[in-house]
Amino acid sequence: MFIFRTIDPLKLLLQQKREQGLIIGFVPTMGALHEGHISLIKQCKATTDITVCSIFVNPVQFNDKRDFEQYPQTPENDLSLLEEEGCDIVFMPTVEEIYPKGNIQKEYAIGRLSELWEGAYRPGHFQGVCKVIDRLLSIIEPQKLYMGQKDYQQIQIIKKLMTLPSVFRSELVMCPIKRMETGLALSSRNSRLNNEKRNEANALYKILKETSEIIKSSQGKQLDDVFNMAEKKLLQNGFDKVDYLALADADNLESLNKVTISQKSVLLCAAYIGGVRLIDNILLTIN
Ligand code: AMP
Repeated sequence: MFIFRTIDPLKLLLQQKREQGLIIGFVPTMGALHEGHISLIKQCKATTDITVCSIFVNPVQFNDKRDFEQYPQTPENDLSLLEEEGCDIVFMPTVEEIYPKGNIQKEYAIGRLSELWEGAYRPGHFQGVCKVIDRLLSIIEPQKLYMGQKDYQQIQIIKKLMTLPSVFRSELVMCPIKRMETGLALSSRNSRLNNEKRNEANALYKILKETSEIIKSSQGKQLDDVFNMAEKKLLQNGFDKVDYLALADADNLESLNKVTISQKSVLLCAAYIGGVRLIDNILLTIN
């Protein structure tokens, strides 16, 4: 496994691989790797010739300074997990390597998609995500890009980002959410929960699942009460605050308070427990 901290030698190696006709797949991460990240690596390895994983805690996507400072970092463990999986190349740059002094702050024209849900609660977050993905794509130039459904809105934003004129285009592959047996979606932030809170956090997926079943059998009906009830249940089950629990169109993410047959939607939630903000979602198609 090759480990690069700087751009030039990485680009050189990737250029050689491209000249050999090899397909390059890319998995961007912020490290503190878990089975969720590893499932992306596995999918990338199974469908490309060269798997590149980046580990970079991107400061410009954190709207909360404390969240950035507390973000877990486990580089040694990350490298051994990646080695075990047979990842070919790891890119672990410094902040200065990704954002050299004097680099211009671009504004990405994502539009409404970046104002909804996470965009409303984390101002500037998606511009920061676009900035790092734009930069990483321009360095790695992968044919395929692997990202998790766990961050569903991020997937839609990156799809839009790759339609913008100066951004490198890659085929975006959405990988399913990896969960614990209890249903809790794996997340690097789970490590900040104590045992009691981690147990309580299992309620999130359970309540989303129950709510999704109610929605499936409520075609054409107003769903506001269903969402209110689900929020109430989260608060009763140890959550401190719910930023949103809502149904949205699976493509444009506009809010829905009714579902119709064959409509593709996504049930989205962001909520706080034990001082940690968790997000999760379930994709729904009404048959
Ligand atoms: P992060 O390190 O949080 O930026 O995540 C890196 C990538 O891993 C993103 O594309 C995430 O959507 C994905 N990811 C995070 N958690 C999971 C999970 N539980 N299952 C599948 N993919 C995940």
